Parts: sequence; C-alpha cells; structure tokens
Amino acid sequence: MRAGSTALHGAGRAEPWRLGYEGFDPAEEGVREVLCAVGNGYLVSRAAAPESRADGVHYPGTYLAGCYDRAVSVVGGRTVENEDLVNCPNWLPLTFRPAGGDWFAGPAATERLELDLRRGVLTRHAVVVDGSGRRTKLVQRRIASQAQPHLVALETELVPENWSGPLEVRSALDADVSNTGVARYRLLTGRHLRPDGQGADPDGTLWLQVAAAGSPLRIALAARTRVHRAGTPLPVTRTDELRDGMAARTLVVEATQGSPVTVEKTVAVYTSRDPAIGAPLRAARTLAAQAPGFDRLARDHALRWTELWRRCRIDADFDGIGAVRLHLFHLLQTYSEHSVDLDVGIPARGLHGEAYRGHVFWDELFVLQLLNLRFPELARAVLRYRHRRLDAARQAAREAGLRGAMYPWQSASDGAEESQRLHLNPLSGRWLPDHSHLQRHVGSAVAYNVWQHYQATGDLDFLAGTGAEMLLEIARFWSSAAVHDPRRDRYSIRGVLGPDEYHDAYPWSDRPGLDDNAYTNVLASWVLARALDAVHALPAYRREELLERLALDPGELDRWQEVSRRLHVPFHDGVLSQFDGYERLAELDWAAYRRRYPDLRRLDRVLEAEGDTVNRYRASKQADVLMLFYLFSAREVRDLLRRLGYPAGHELQHRTTDYYLRRTVHGSTLSAVVHAWVLTRTDRRASWRFFRDALHGDLIDVQGGTTAEGVHLGAMAGTVDLLQRCYTGLEIRQDALWLDPRLPSEIGRLELDLRYRGHWGVRLAADRRTVTVSLPEGHQAPVRIVFRGSSTTVLPGGSHRFSL
Ligand code: BGC
Repeated sequence: MRAGSTALHGAGRAEPWRLGYEGFDPAEEGVREVLCAVGNGYLVSRAAAPESRADGVHYPGTYLAGCYDRAVSVVGGRTVENEDLVNCPNWLPLTFRPAGGDWFAGPAATERLELDLRRGVLTRHAVVVDGSGRRTKLVQRRIASQAQPHLVALETELVPENWSGPLEVRSALDADVSNTGVARYRLLTGRHLRPDGQGADPDGTLWLQVAAAGSPLRIALAARTRVHRAGTPLPVTRTDELRDGMAARTLVVEATQGSPVTVEKTVAVYTSRDPAIGAPLRAARTLAAQAPGFDRLARDHALRWTELWRRCRIDADFDGIGAVRLHLFHLLQTYSEHSVDLDVGIPARGLHGEAYRGHVFWDELFVLQLLNLRFPELARAVLRYRHRRLDAARQAAREAGLRGAMYPWQSASDGAEESQRLHLNPLSGRWLPDHSHLQRHVGSAVAYNVWQHYQATGDLDFLAGTGAEMLLEIARFWSSAAVHDPRRDRYSIRGVLGPDEYHDAYPWSDRPGLDDNAYTNVLASWVLARALDAVHALPAYRREELLERLALDPGELDRWQEVSRRLHVPFHDGVLSQFDGYERLAELDWAAYRRRYPDLRRLDRVLEAEGDTVNRYRASKQADVLMLFYLFSAREVRDLLRRLGYPAGHELQHRTTDYYLRRTVHGSTLSAVVHAWVLTRTDRRASWRFFRDALHGDLIDVQGGTTAEGVHLGAMAGTVDLLQRCYTGLEIRQDALWLDPRLPSEIGRLELDLRYRGHWGVRLAADRRTVTVSLPEGHQAPVRIVFRGSSTTVLPGGSHRFSL
C-alpha cells in the first residue's frame, strides 16, 4: 500500500479538485494510469506516459464505448469464446531527443502528475536528462474533449534548460496493440485488431485504420501534429514512417536554450459504430484537419466540465469531498451525453482497463439511482441498452425452458450471456468451473431501475414505451421460474446464485446453484408486484396493446399475484437466511484464518488452494441478504415480507445485519457501499468506516487490488449516492420527495442540486439542525415534500426550511 504518495491535493475545504502524484513508482503506475485517465463517455484513455509502451509497468490503453470483439481461446484444455472491450490503437506515442541523443523512453529525472477535475485536464511536469547531461523541461497537458467527443489532444511544451540545437520529435499512431492488461487473462486471445491501411495526407494529417478480427468493427484514427513557439509556427523538417499498423512522423526543429517549443498532437477517432458519419476513416481525417488548436479545444472542453459540475453540484465540509468528486469525474468520463446514442451499457470497470473484459453487470443498480436525479437522460440511455437486448433475454429464457426475459449476468454487444465458464485461481493455478452466470437477480436489477426511473422522472411515456415491456417480461420470467412446493405450499426459485458469488453450490450436492436465495426471492416478489402496478399505471390504450402483444391474459396476471405473495423466504436463528439450507453450513474458524492470511477478501481462492471449498462455510464475499436493506427502507422490507406472509419485527434488520456483517469479507467493493448504507441509522461509526473504505477503495488500492485493471464504477457511484440519498434520507415515492436527513457527525453541511420531474437545480441544503429545499424559478409543477411523515408543497422559486 502506498497511500503516502497518493494525495488529493488540497483535500478538504481549500482545493478539493485535484488528484496529484509525485515521482515515478513502477508498483503504482497502473493505478495512476487508471485514476488519472481522461475520457468523455465516448472513449477513455489511460494516463500512461506518451513515450511508454505496454511493458508490464505501463499500459497505454484506450477504450471506446461499445467496441467489443469476439475471439476464441483454448484454456484449461477447453475452447472458450470471449467478447472483449477492445484496446484501441494507441493515439499517444510522442517522444523527443536532442539531436544525437537517445529517444526519451522514461522515466524522467523528476515527475509530477496532476489531474484537474474541474477542467478535465491531466498535466505532467517532468525534467528529462539525456546521456550527455542535456536537461529538458517538459510540460504535457492532455484532454479527451467533452465538447467534441471524437477528439483527444496532447500538448507538449519542451524547454531546453542547458542546451541549444536540433530537437527531434516523434509522433505516432500505433496499432500494434492487444488486450494484455490483465495478467489473469493472458492465456486468452488478446489480439483483436489487424491493420487496415495507413497513410499521410498532403495537409500533414497522419492516419491509420484497423479492423477487428471477429466482428465488423473498424476503428480509424487521424493525427495532426504541429510545432509552434507561443503560437507562431516553427519551421520543421519532417520524415514519415508508414507501415502496417504504424503511422509515425519525425519532426526536426531548431531549439534554443530557455525557449519553449510546443508540440500539439490532436487526434480524431471514429468507429464503424458511430452515428452520423459515412465512413470512420473519412470522418477522422476531416475532423483532424479541421480541429481547433489545443488552447481553444481545452477552453471548450472546460466549459463542458463547468456545465457538468453545475449539474452534479455536491458540496460537503469533510476531507473526502475530493474523492467524491473524483468518483463523479470517472463516472461522467465513462458515461456522458456522448454515450447516449452509442447503444452502450455501463461497464462495471469503466472504460479504464480490461478487467471483466469491459462487460456490463448488475452494477448499474448502484449507478442509475444517482443518474436518475442528475442526468435522467443518461439513466434512460442505459435502460434503452437493456431494452434493445430484450429479445436476447427472451431467447435466453426460452433456452432455459422458461418464459419472459432472462437478462445475462455479463452483457456486452448483443445481450448474450458473456460470463466466463472457467476461471483461474492464481493461488492454486487451477482452472475452475465458474457458475456466476446463475445470478439471475440481474434481471430484477433492470426491473428495479425501470421502476425507479419512472418514479424519479414521472415519465409515463418512458414506462409506456419501453420500461413496462421490460418490467413485464422480467416479472413473467420470475413467475415461470417459481416452482410450487407442495410441502410448504409455497413457491421456490431453485438453482440460482445470490450476489455473494462465493456460494455457488451446496457442499452436499453436485449440481450448481442454490435454492431460494432470500434476496432473489424477495426482489422477485417486488418485481411481480410492480409489474402489476405498471399494468395499472399505463394509459388504457397502451395497456391493451402491450397485454395483447405480450399475450398476457388475466390468468397469468393472477398467477403473478399469487407467486408474489407465496414465494418462500428462508429464516434461521431469527435472521433472514441467505438461502434455503444456509443453517446447515459450518462456521469458519475466522480467528485462525485471519491469523494466517492478513487479507481474506479472496477467501474462496484461499480455501480452494487448501483443497477445501468456501461453499462449506457461513462466509460471504459481499452483501447478499443485506442488499434488501440497501434497496428498500426497513419499513419497506417489513412490508414486503408481510405481503409474503412473514411477520417481521423491527429487530429483523438489526439482527440480520449483525449476523452477516460478522461473516462477510467484502471481496467486492460494492459491499462497503451497501454496509455503509445499511448501518447508517444503527451503527454510525461502522457506517462511516465503510463509507471511508468505499471512498478510498480505488485511491488507496491495497496490495492485491485490481484498480490498475479499471475503476470500480458501482462503488464510485455508490459513494456519491450515499451523500445524495442515504444521508439525506431521500426517497421518491407516491409522487413526492421524502426527506429524513441524518448527517454523519463528520459532515456538518451538505448541499446538492438535483433534477426532479422537469425542475433543474432543486437544491437540498442540510446541516445538523435544518434541511432546506429550494426550487428554481420556472413554470414546472410544485413539488411535494414529505418530511418525517408530514407533507409540504414548495412552489417554483420558493423554498422551505425544515427543522430537524
Ligand atoms: C462482484 C459482483 C460485481 C462484479 C463487477 C464482482 O466481484 O461480486 O457483484 O457485479 O464484480 O463489478
């Protein structure tokens, strides 16, 4: 752990807008490249040094939203097919040398990296000394434009400190890349792209194109490299090198001691997936030639970031606000207005690395709640991604002998199940069967997001257009998966996994999957009930259409009612059981394991390497049952259980939380978010500890962490949402904003601007004694606020202060 060298400069009140790193540390390079990555929702480019290559320390990856490729590999003696988010050709390569010296290949003599969150600019300050003692000061600024998402730009200012003479600069586009960013996947085919032409235009633009091996994807890049001194172009001589997969240019310019030379490299990127273009190569060459200079690009880009920050204004007087902003920053770099028309979901690890191959999981459950109240159009685009894959989900259900829509645990381009069927335990070196695709609860996450989006926006057209269709098909899936058990006269959902991936089978069974996972069943009951609500909420005209189209008859709707009230939910020792039969598992000797292994986050691997299996023990990777208390208030959980015929008292949440807390290793970053949430009102100190863990999960990536392979976007969004909804007690129900703030003692003041049902900038300002809601002027409808049970209406332009 190298927390010492990581700092959010000015974290706290003074200047919580920067992430900075001093010096060069090979062990931490991967994490820095991820946390200082620049992106715009169309692409994200890691913060690798422009002179670096993928060499085991550096990994100059750039990833384009939705650009996947399929490849076949042979691992563990089996043929497997994978769809990978493709590592795009490297747009960055840029290096220099005083004539006669060696090309600068790093590391520099001194090095400082600074990410300006407010403006979205990554700046590098370095001093480079060559073999002859010639010192050159280097300042590099880098952006991925939020104003023109197809442009990335790198400005390099070089100042010879103790020499004068010819300066050579080499700028290139390099398609000799493959997906090798994750060591565990290196046995898989990583070569996805083949060269498909390169060249140099008379105006000086260099370009290249690549074609994917297993899909029709084409990616084109065009680069313009210019050299000037304080805006005045400098005379240069140039030599081009064009060969398969490489377009490079060497420029020679006269440099003078103390006098800066500025090199601007502007690169346009297009793919065959982009809307509103003819061909990607033509679009890239045209844009590269027309793009404005770096300063102008950076200005337009900064303006967009100002807008973005205004729209997701969040302020709190505690020293973690910089980390909160960093999380929002990476979220908006992964998914932005530029993602909306790309037909993409939210990859669990951002577009920052190759972990999980860029796939989309249930993690959007942790992201959409935040987006619903800030950028509802982005939340809707994510739901559209799911809707376009409804047929694939229907097909998957059919193949499983079921009805409705069965969404895949891992989704990528076409909505087919992309989960791996084998995974490597690096501790034992064994390839093991992977049953994580049995996490059918992912469909309920989609349904939950549909309903919450409808609640937050009140957008009936969304519900009628696409939302209800998904919701009904997911409900239908649960109804068909539920099997009546005459012994109990209840319905069971068998052979699934809950969010805790450690448990994938009963130790006494050779069949994968578990029965009646409490989270899955309670949520399925909720989905069935909401689907029935949606049928009622729809305009009659559309209701008839949809019922007819889906061939949903009253008999089937009656069954939904029945199943939603009669699903089996297991209990033991006065707590909700994670799944049926959980009480038959053994207790782990936690003290002994903690002594032997300082880090138990991969307890599954530890036990497997010992010839044992985690399936035998009451030990969880992450919040499972407790997810219920994350998604619903304690009261709602009680109501859901009562509806299912289980009387549940006030103590259930407390007992259940306490029980699993003692048996959970938090092997997923999502776990800390859920625990921080669930404990807010019962154990504030523990809740704050989890919040801090989640806040620093990526920033202080501990040994064995995987941030170098991509950010943990669900946890990042989750921390912001803890401020936004959890600490404010904000819920959206029955056409009202419900508030019940309870700030942690470490936060004295919290302010947020939300978008709610057509109002932009609904301000919530909470401190220890009051909470004030203010609405901007406008013609929108008044907003009903329910504060601790009593309702008040706030008019546009008005505000109301509630005493706590
Ligand atoms: C977690 C899942 C999560 C996935 C992607 C896994 O480690 O167990 O819940 O969806 O990572 O973030």
